[in-house]
Amino acid sequence: MINNFPFEKFMGYQKKILKTIEKTFKDKKIIVLEAPTGSGKSPIALAVAKYFKNAYIVTSQKLLQDQYVNNFNLVELKGKSNYMCGMRPIPANLAKCKGCFYPCQYRKALNDAIKSDITILNYHVALMQHRINEEPRNILICDECHNIEDVFMSMVEFKINLEKLASMKIKTSIPDTNDMEKLKKWLNGDLLVQIEKELNILEEKDSDSQDDLMKIDYLSNLYSKISNFLISSEKWVYCDNEKSFKPLKIKSFTKRLFEMSKNKILLMSATVLNPDSFLESIGLNDRSDVAYIPVPSTFPKENRKISLAYCNVNLKYTNLKQGIKDLNSNIEKILNKHIGEKGVIHTTNYNIAKNIQDNFFLEDRLLFPTPKTRFITLDQHINSKKDTVLVSPSMTEGVDLKDDLSRFQIICKIPYPFLGDKQITERKKIDPDWYIWKTCISLVQSYGRSIRSESDHAKTYILDESFKWFVKINAHMLPKWFFEAIEY
Ligand code: SF4
Repeated sequence: MINNFPFEKFMGYQKKILKTIEKTFKDKKIIVLEAPTGSGKSPIALAVAKYFKNAYIVTSQKLLQDQYVNNFNLVELKGKSNYMCGMRPIPANLAKCKGCFYPCQYRKALNDAIKSDITILNYHVALMQHRINEEPRNILICDECHNIEDVFMSMVEFKINLEKLASMKIKTSIPDTNDMEKLKKWLNGDLLVQIEKELNILEEKDSDSQDDLMKIDYLSNLYSKISNFLISSEKWVYCDNEKSFKPLKIKSFTKRLFEMSKNKILLMSATVLNPDSFLESIGLNDRSDVAYIPVPSTFPKENRKISLAYCNVNLKYTNLKQGIKDLNSNIEKILNKHIGEKGVIHTTNYNIAKNIQDNFFLEDRLLFPTPKTRFITLDQHINSKKDTVLVSPSMTEGVDLKDDLSRFQIICKIPYPFLGDKQITERKKIDPDWYIWKTCISLVQSYGRSIRSESDHAKTYILDESFKWFVKINAHMLPKWFFEAIEY
């Protein structure tokens, strides 16, 4: 395996990891590799893929997918909407491909992906593209594997948007009940029938208008999600507030992902944290054929200190007014200590971000990305010569704030998943460990945003007063190298 490593020199534990993977795969089918940010997992994945001759490498983040393509010249397959149809001036996802053999961009990308020995793709394409599912490889490598559950969950859950449906001539109302059998009866007996009827009308019309094609795309997608739900073996919940249906677990859906492997599976992440919780989350309940390889951090703890000097903020509902006051006061002190340096403030939710924005409205170094402006504001932060600071709950993953892009970061609150979401409340009831595990992943991922290599350095401030208690009772869920950095 080490002979397939793409670089001349190994970094940190890379050589040791490859030797261990080669040895472990001799008698195990699945390896869970937990290696911290900066340990160079991508070249390891490539060496393993080459060793097994043919492979799929699946990622959840566009940034990571681009890195694989650019650094190793790999063939990638993106979602259909990224390619243009050759027959009409529309994206390929809106095209009627059935029976068409025109050599378009999309067909070429699909054929190249199937012919190539190593193909890089995202989880959505892996689940939706039938030809990929039908051609399993010797090894399936899943990068950022801690995201599999969230990604699959978002792919199968669905919302009923009555206004949008009415604009497509589908008039219905959701029964006023939480009884899943009654809701199923309505979905099957009324909504699906109406969607099918409207789809038939649109198909017969055979229109080229972008509007009609988008309607077909939306309705077919909703139809297939509802059908999936009606035959699903998982337990589902109906979230009344957002009119959405969500499964509690995703075991029956991930099966299809793992069938993309003929032989071996390598699951990689910086934050597996607890292999039992992780494997349970993706439905791999049989642990007999699974090996777990945790790798220590090579980053000096002096470069990534976690300060508790301002850890006295109580943001519980009953103390919110005082809590916000303390939060803003601490943030002000920390910002003053880091004048001339860029940083990031992880807020856990948009309410906290809004409170900070209201308090620091005169502080023009603070940038507040919204879900819509996330990438534009991130670019603004990267390109600005000023000591800008990102303030957001959405910078915890998929963002590389290396070196001077962030010399300090603030974690305002322990990032518990939102209990206003019925799916999360129900899931917590049946599996309390899962809830803590998700919180720890978010905490460690936030911590990892600003320290990206052995020579990088950034200070982390945690403000939530319950942090000391949290890490004490959940020590088994957090890596040793995280504890090493805490300055009590
Ligand atoms: S296969 Fe045909 S219909 Fe489909 S995207 Fe290509 S050219 Fe368009």
